[in-house]
Amino acid sequence: MKPTLDAALALDAMLDLTHPRKLAAADWARQHAGTRRGEFDRQRWQQAAQFGVLGLRTPVEFGGVEVSTVETLLSFEGLGLGSADPGFVFSLASQVFAMQTALIEAGSPEQKRQWLPPLCRGEAIGSFAMSEPEAGSDVAAITTTAQRLADGRMRLDGVKAWVTLAPVADVVIVFATTDPTRGRWGITAFLVPIETPGLHVGPIEAKSGLHSCPFSRIVFDGCVVDTTAVLGAIGAGAAIFASAVEAERAFLYAAQLGAMERILERCIDRARRRTQFGQAIGSFQAVSHRIATMKLRHEAARLLVYKAAALNDLGASVTMAAALAKLQTSESAVESALDAVHIHGAEGYAESAGIELELRDALGGLVYSGTSDIQRNIVARLLGVGRSDRPTPPKDRTS
Ligand SMILES: Cc1cc2nc3c(=O)[nH]c(=O)nc-3n(C[C@H](O)[C@H](O)[C@H](O)COP(=O)(O)OP(=O)(O)OC[C@H]3O[C@@H](n4cnc5c(N)ncnc54)[C@H](O)[C@@H]3O)c2cc1C
Repeated sequence: MKPTLDAALALDAMLDLTHPRKLAAADWARQHAGTRRGEFDRQRWQQAAQFGVLGLRTPVEFGGVEVSTVETLLSFEGLGLGSADPGFVFSLASQVFAMQTALIEAGSPEQKRQWLPPLCRGEAIGSFAMSEPEAGSDVAAITTTAQRLADGRMRLDGVKAWVTLAPVADVVIVFATTDPTRGRWGITAFLVPIETPGLHVGPIEAKSGLHSCPFSRIVFDGCVVDTTAVLGAIGAGAAIFASAVEAERAFLYAAQLGAMERILERCIDRARRRTQFGQAIGSFQAVSHRIATMKLRHEAARLLVYKAAALNDLGASVTMAAALAKLQTSESAVESALDAVHIHGAEGYAESAGIELELRDALGGLVYSGTSDIQRNIVARLLGVGRSDRPTPPKDRTS
């Protein structure tokens, strides 16, 4: 049975920075992912699977443990806190919140039985491919096509871009248009094993941060799949995508909350230890106020992220909450990582201390799961901004 809201737990998660579930994950991460890797580490991935991370949202019958969303986020927050490798935690979260969400929500019993247990055990890795070189924010503009052949099978052609984990993936959920005349209603999702003929994974693309989480293009060139590869129904792709991306933007950023807390602690430590002009730099108001602002951003982001999680456990819509949580967390993470560079001076800019690397990791959050502008568009739309026939103002709990 799907977990429901445990209000006491949700409140506890919001009020207590030392929830045992979070601390257990942080301890695990310090031990197993305490160093930063420059590339994907499969052994680390499998260890995380053994720790249970990949099965947190998957029903028991398909190999997971299906705990509540609040509990899942406590675990991811802990991973972000304990791990010195945000790319690794991001890659786990990306599979759990986007790819697995779509498979759990829309997959047939056979698709779930085939893929979810190995995904939870870390034996298979899954990607989620919507973006294209010419269609990022505007997902309805995708040009990857799926054409039905005379024998009833489907032929996929097109190029997907920036696909997280594609270079190491075993299976991908890909979105293609089955009817270009119907716009978003003509988009269909497919579950395609990576070794399918006609599917080509491009080379790893260099990027600013998140180095242990590779991304690349996937090219479909006459890639023929059976109709059993359709995820959900023909034409249901946009709805499947919207639901999975909403889960991603609402929950994935719990990992960044942990990273923000870890960076805050480093800054406090630095402010106390480093002396200039005969005194600890923390005694300068410019430095101490910077740290106070970092704390404010972190707490504000936490409240929004756990609000989204609690609403989800309640069975309520999270469209507004997800956009707000994503905006606050991703933008705060960048601002606070930049503050950390200020506070650490030259050490903050030197690669060896890892501070500027945290900034580079955080930058990605402004873009994936929908850019900041797109989140603001969602919030403004839900508020009825720009509409003369503004409906009843939204109640706080609804979206
Ligand atoms: C680390 C990382 C991992 C990713 N992983 C995946 C993945 O696994 N699968 C996948 O499918 N994609 C993935 N992406 C791609 C990501 O989803 C897109 O980059 C994102 O949707 C933005 O698209 P774009 O880069 O084409 O930017 P564009 O859409 O070209 O946007 C460029 C600028 O225009 C602004 N803009 C565009 N439209 C509007 C509008 N209507 N109103 C206001 N401003 C607008 C944007 O906010 C932005 O500032 C990943 C990206 C990153 C950085």
